Amino acid sequence: MQALVTQPGDTHTTRVEDVPAVEALEGEVLVRTLEVGVCGTDREISEGLFGIAPEGEQQLVLGHEALAVVERNGYGFTRGQLVTATVRRSCGHCIACAEDSPDSCLTGDYRERGITRLHGYARELVAEDPEQLVAIPKSLGRLGVLAEPTSICERALRHARAIGGRQPWQLERALVIGAGAIGLLMTYLLRLASVEVWTASLEPENELVEQSGARYASTHDDELSELGKFDLVIEAAGNAQLMAGAGLRACLGSIRVTRRSSSTAECWVWIRS
Ligand SMILES: [Zn+2]
Ligand SMILES: [Zn+2]
Repeated sequence: MQALVTQPGDTHTTRVEDVPAVEALEGEVLVRTLEVGVCGTDREISEGLFGIAPEGEQQLVLGHEALAVVERNGYGFTRGQLVTATVRRSCGHCIACAEDSPDSCLTGDYRERGITRLHGYARELVAEDPEQLVAIPKSLGRLGVLAEPTSICERALRHARAIGGRQPWQLERALVIGAGAIGLLMTYLLRLASVEVWTASLEPENELVEQSGARYASTHDDELSELGKFDLVIEAAGNAQLMAGAGLRACLGSIRVTRRSSSTAECWVWIRS
């Protein structure tokens, strides 16, 4: 069986290679990988900056943003069904993990598919704990590979709404900085919630942003602080300094800052208070 492997901590070690076959043990579901998303986390692992191989091993199979198909019926799943999987798995001994929130794990002893102490999905077959599988509607097809990064965005918005909602606050205008996968998914989720959105990035224009009904600002041509006030600012460019330097205090008035992080990607959320 072939897999995309790397040696965490070492650069230039990412390669496709034969790895031992996978057998589903009792209590596991065998799935076949169809698609794997590649994000900044994968790049960092490949550059030797991040990632931990499973205990006793040198290599890590990459791939945490997966779309897979169930190979055999069992544990509530049927052959042919599309699935994705959670990334971070409980450390087993902290209050956050006990409450089913390993993304808020307090100990760092968690495992993450394709990132930390657990092989990922960039291989032909994976044996998975059915508790960690999430069914994907067939109608989504290949787009199902975006389920994992979309879940990160949705979680950030849930946090923003919870924090913003502690006092009178209405999410009417939002600024998204960055038009990579996270920035675009954020833009689309906010538009689906009928929020007026500006999305800003380096390129002169962005068709996908405009197709969502959001407006696009090029950070070369537009001064962000001149776009008016925003109730929410999402930094999805992977550079919080950019936020600080972008005149955003002016956009938000006085700001409260909350940081959300998840197992696989990070964005920052600024809420107007
Ligand atoms: Zn990712
Ligand atoms: Zn934990």
